[in-house]
Amino acid sequence: MKENSFPPFQYVKGVGPKIAKLLEKLKLCHTADFFYFFPRTYEDRRNIPSLSQLKLNEFQFCMGTLLSVSESTTRQNQSLLKGVVRDHGSMIVAVWFNQPYLKSVLTPGTRVFLKGKVEKNPYTHEIQIMVSDFEKVTEDTVGKITPVYSLVNGLYQTKMRVIAKQVLKDYLPLLRDPFPEEWKKKWELMDLKSAVLHLHFPGNEDDFERARYRIVFEEFFSFQIGLGLRRRPSRKELNMFQLQTTGEKISAYLSSLPYSLTEGQKQAIETIKRDVTGPKRMNRLLQGDVGCGKTDVALMALLFAIESWRKGVILAPKEILAEQHYLRFKGHLDALRIPVFLLKGKMRAKEKKTVIEILRDPSPMIVVGTHALLEDSIVISDLAMTIVDEQHRFGVLQRLELWKKGENSHCLYMTATPIPRSLLLTCFSDLDKTTIHQMPPGRKPVKSYFIREKNSDKVFQFCRSQLKKGAQIYCVYPLVEESEKLDLKSAIEGWETLKNHVFPNYKVGLLHGKLPPNEKTEIMNAFKKKEIAILVATTVIEVGIDVSNATIMIIQHADRFGLSQLHQLRGRIGRGGQDSFCFLIGAPKTEQAKLRIKAMLETANGFQIAEMDLKIRGPGDLLGTRQSGLPEFKVGDMIKDEPILLTAREAAQEILMDGVKNDPVFLEVRNRILQHYKWNQAHDLN
Ligand code: ADP
Ligand code: MG
Repeated sequence: MKENSFPPFQYVKGVGPKIAKLLEKLKLCHTADFFYFFPRTYEDRRNIPSLSQLKLNEFQFCMGTLLSVSESTTRQNQSLLKGVVRDHGSMIVAVWFNQPYLKSVLTPGTRVFLKGKVEKNPYTHEIQIMVSDFEKVTEDTVGKITPVYSLVNGLYQTKMRVIAKQVLKDYLPLLRDPFPEEWKKKWELMDLKSAVLHLHFPGNEDDFERARYRIVFEEFFSFQIGLGLRRRPSRKELNMFQLQTTGEKISAYLSSLPYSLTEGQKQAIETIKRDVTGPKRMNRLLQGDVGCGKTDVALMALLFAIESWRKGVILAPKEILAEQHYLRFKGHLDALRIPVFLLKGKMRAKEKKTVIEILRDPSPMIVVGTHALLEDSIVISDLAMTIVDEQHRFGVLQRLELWKKGENSHCLYMTATPIPRSLLLTCFSDLDKTTIHQMPPGRKPVKSYFIREKNSDKVFQFCRSQLKKGAQIYCVYPLVEESEKLDLKSAIEGWETLKNHVFPNYKVGLLHGKLPPNEKTEIMNAFKKKEIAILVATTVIEVGIDVSNATIMIIQHADRFGLSQLHQLRGRIGRGGQDSFCFLIGAPKTEQAKLRIKAMLETANGFQIAEMDLKIRGPGDLLGTRQSGLPEFKVGDMIKDEPILLTAREAAQEILMDGVKNDPVFLEVRNRILQHYKWNQAHDLN
């Protein structure tokens, strides 16, 4: 897009090197960058209320002429600028708090826009507006929908609008539309230049909507194309995956289980069996709420590989979960004489080397591992089954990499986090889906309570009575990345208090991510063996940990956890058929935190929780995109704009279809859109 015709900003009329430097901070280097630097929001200045229409105690904006300005100081010695503002009918007092430098700008006679809260002065009873934002009125912003851009220090909104106008006037005509005319007609897309123009300076709602549609379509379209091109090899082309299962190992495993499988588990296994004994490569998503028993399904899927004399691999997002799977699998499989190995990042070099060498051997085995298994240097021969546990913890591209790595392997992705439909249709559209709907029998719903911090003692008192009956307890502290050290400190302090003062008669263990791996394993094992009664932990235990005797979950600073995290944590208890209790301790301050806790008290259903989570987070942070490696779009919103997503997907599929893949017209569109969108940088999902 940046052909020579788009000069750097400093050559734009009215910009110069100083402002160009500021623009650079907003990643605006070339004039062309501005086209897609859309306003953060807009102000509708078409119907500005007259001063007499202003409502008390509301945040509003208004317009008028400054008659006079006076300066005084408050009792706290802060500057107070008061201006009298008038329109045709009435007057209002505008108050600028602690901004003495504005005095030189606020000259009487100036017409200003004011934004702020309107209130009645309790002493003078005058109506005043506490100005939070103001602007001199220029003719081209009166009566229009006005863009509001993101800024950096030293750059003003008015200046930014002038730059926007200039850039669009001088350079927009040079922007090339990557879509050919017929294509635009077919998908009812506004022309690119008009779309860019209307997104910056919307004439009316209609134009704005159509402009937005066009840009969002383009975003989703290029995303689909990029994803589609990466998605190789295709399933149709390969025909070498058929496994032969005897059922022998599976029945041995089943008879070693102290319970029988639920209907959901059985059906999942049947489906997987049909997949792997069929001619095509399996690529399946297994969804099911926390605790529904996905691990058994995984293990049996791995046994299909073993029965066919091949290897099976299961990947976990955390070492501690990998270790737990490893121990659980070994416990079952040693007796069946099936070798199980563990591979993780932190291992003794010699041990690691041995495992890596064994993986090259063509003999059947099960390997449990973390991301470490994805390293390029690791070769797994005769791999027939790859399972990813807690798949939402892995990025979208990581999944595609894996799909390539185990080229001759069936793939199963497991998750307890329901995936919104729009994502299923895009990032996960290549997957078949199976859902386990029910829980193993005998589970009792966990009773959940919200407890204010100052009442923690009551929780502890209750815990003592339960400990006497042999209960085990988790007590979790949040670990927020920005201040990992601080948070660790709070877990350690919490542990010390509990150990020395609250439960001096019981063994209290501490588990966190910074411990050496063997220590982690030891502590987990001691907890499993009931040698530890209370386990204080950071969120390392959030995923997948399984100790059925634990019946109490205390979540400290519950307001600082995400909703799905809280749900995962609560899912650690209520597994053994005893009464179980979850205590959410905290002091929620934000509206969102309050809603999260409310949701936890209202439902224990993972799908409902996920829905509420989406609602609470609102657009923008819908999926915790950064964390989960999902794409972020400048304008589009995968949930709200689902209809556009569907249309764009249809369009993209047309272009990606095998038959037309090499058609020169389509190739041209494809290349242009990818280039246009700088796909590789903008959307590298890792
Ligand atoms: P998740 O689906 O969250 O991974 P797990 O596989 O860890 O759940 O299973 C949770 C617990 O339920 C484990 O202790 C497991 O042994 C137990 N479990 C699994 N299936 C059954 C079943 N059919 N009946 C009784 N308990 C089961
Ligand atoms: Mg699990």
